[in-house]
Parts: sequence; C-alpha cells; structure tokens
Amino acid sequence: MALLINVGHGGWMTDAEIAETVRAHDPGADVRPLAEPGDLSDVTMLAVSKLNPDLPSRLPNLKLVQKLGAGVETIVRHPALPDHVRVTRLKPEAPAREIAEWFLTYILNAQRQGDRYRRQQVQADWSPTAPLVTSETVVGVLGLGHIGGHTARLLGQLGFQVHGWSRSPKSLPDVTCHHGQYALPAMLGGCDHVCAILPSTPETTGFFDAQRLAAMKPGSQLLNAGRGDLIDETALLQALDGGTPGHAVLDVVSQEPLPADNPLWQHSSVTITPHVSGWHLGDALKDVAENLRRLIAGEALLHEVDRARGY
Ligand code: NDP
Repeated sequence: MALLINVGHGGWMTDAEIAETVRAHDPGADVRPLAEPGDLSDVTMLAVSKLNPDLPSRLPNLKLVQKLGAGVETIVRHPALPDHVRVTRLKPEAPAREIAEWFLTYILNAQRQGDRYRRQQVQADWSPTAPLVTSETVVGVLGLGHIGGHTARLLGQLGFQVHGWSRSPKSLPDVTCHHGQYALPAMLGGCDHVCAILPSTPETTGFFDAQRLAAMKPGSQLLNAGRGDLIDETALLQALDGGTPGHAVLDVVSQEPLPADNPLWQHSSVTITPHVSGWHLGDALKDVAENLRRLIAGEALLHEVDRARGY
C-alpha cells in the first residue's frame, strides 16, 4: 500500500519535497517519489499535479489518484484510468483566498482606473477622473464552490453588489444567488465584472462563446481563473474589439504556456497572468497523508470527486 508522488511539471514543488512533507504528516507511511518508485505493484495511490498519461498503465493495483490541487479534468477524463479508480482533490484555504484576492486586485484596478493612469503617466498627463463607487458596482461570480464561495463572500463583505451563479441552488450571505442556464443571460447583462471560477467539464467547455460574450454588459470586465477552455478565445478577441466586454483578465488560457505569437498577448484590452492566481498550498498536504490512511483503512476519503460529473 504505497503512495507514489509525481508532480508532472516543473516550476513548482518537486516530487521529493512533496514526499518529504507527506511523510512528515505520517512518518510510517510508504511514500515514494517517482525517481525511487520501488516495486510499482505496491502502489495503490498516486498523487499528481499534472497526470503523466503513461503512468496509470504502469500501476496495476492503483485505487486512487490524488490531485495536488483542484482541477481534475485531465484525470477524470483519462482514457486509461479504469472506472474503479477513485479521484480526490485538495480544498485548501490558502489558494482559495489567493484567488479571491486575484479577482479583487483586477476589480479594484478597474475601479480606480489603474490602466488609464499608467497610460497618462507615460504622457505626463495629469487628468483626474472620478473613481467608480463600490456600492454601485455589480460583480458576478460564476461558480460558487470552494473558491467561488470565498470570492463572492469577500466581495460581498467589501460592499460590492454580488451575484453568484452555480449549477445547484445556493445561499450565501451578502450574495444574490442564481442557478441554472436560464438565470444566466439576465445576470451577465447586469454585471460590471464577471469572475469565472468554474471547473472544466463537457458542460463548461466553450461556455463563453460569441452569444454569451454578447450578453455581457458593454464595457464590462471578464476575469477567468478557472480553466482556459471556458472561453472561445477567437470569439473573445472579436468581442473585445467591439467593446463587449471591454476588458478580459486571464489567469488561464486554452494553451499554457501561451505561445508568443498568440494575439491575446498583444491585445490592448487583455491582461494576462501566467496561471498564478492560486499558488500556496498551506497545510493541504496533510490531507494527502490522511487520504492514504483512509484508503488503507477503507474509510470515506476527503474531497472525493464525482468522476461522472467531472468535478
Ligand atoms: P468546486 O468544485 O468547489 O466548485 C465548482 C463550482 O462550479 C460549483 O459551485 C458548481 O456548482 C459550479 N459548476 C460546475 N459546473 C457548472 C455548470 N455546468 N453550471 C453552473 N455551475 C457549475 O471547485 P473550486 O471552486 O475548488 O475550483 C473551481 C475550478 O477552479 C477548479 O476546477 C480549477 O479548474 C480552477 N482552479 C484554478 C486555479 C488557478 O490557479 N487558476 C487554482 C485552483 C483551481 P454546484 O455548487 O451547484 O455544484
């Protein structure tokens, strides 16, 4: 009953660092970085950030894939992952808070006209204009789960008029909650900022097509920290040229890293951050150790994903 660690990409924590942290939470656990895998038939749990597509077929006794983060679209849809293999994710507070702050950063930048003053400064142009008023500003949050819930509550506490949207009905303090497809067009049309924090599923892929973009308020701002495939980027570029929406802030794009010749880089109405809105895991790796223990003990797992639903 071993746990194999394979982060699957560079630029973040290494396999060895994750293994050491998980072992610190459970010193008796059999935790192996991919570089020291031992007998792969011992491995019942695999922890990944990005799933190496060839790995599942090398693990004959795999029972659980633990995502070292939140988005599980490549895992639940993996063609070689048998149906009996369960999938869990992490739900740490630290990155949920960070992503809420990322949304807030770009909303406040627009409220205080940061881009305009940056341009004016280049021209030594001292032309004051009134900042926008928080209580008169409507913010929509698409996705009211772990991260969207944090975001909507934070913005509500700060005095924005917050509307939230999810698949099933919700009730959150300081947030007007909507659910289902029919509620969406009217909500989009009233929002000055739309914060998208939806998972990538067959239902959400290509969600912001030309029609949905046209349903937004002219001059409004679309912010996406969920997954890049939510937005049809060709339609977005055309929509931005027409001013509806007026600006897009993208932490995630359909191809990451975004190729240097992608027109999103150069568009004056696009702001890009390189998938950094949520970074720190806090103490979430304790849940990886706990899920290994629960898997061995046959107990209910923490944060199990519904593979059929896709999140
Ligand atoms: P959750 O699973 O907690 O919440 C997902 C929310 O989306 C739920 O409110 C759910 O509705 C809603 N939803 C899903 N499908 C639909 C749909 N078809 N129509 C309407 N609402 C829908 O996920 P998290 O909040 O933890 O994370 C969301 C996503 O953010 C992740 O899947 C990941 O892709 C992305 N992410 C990005 C990061 C980054 O660094 N940029 C970091 C971490 C996550 P309901 O509540 O009714 O089920």
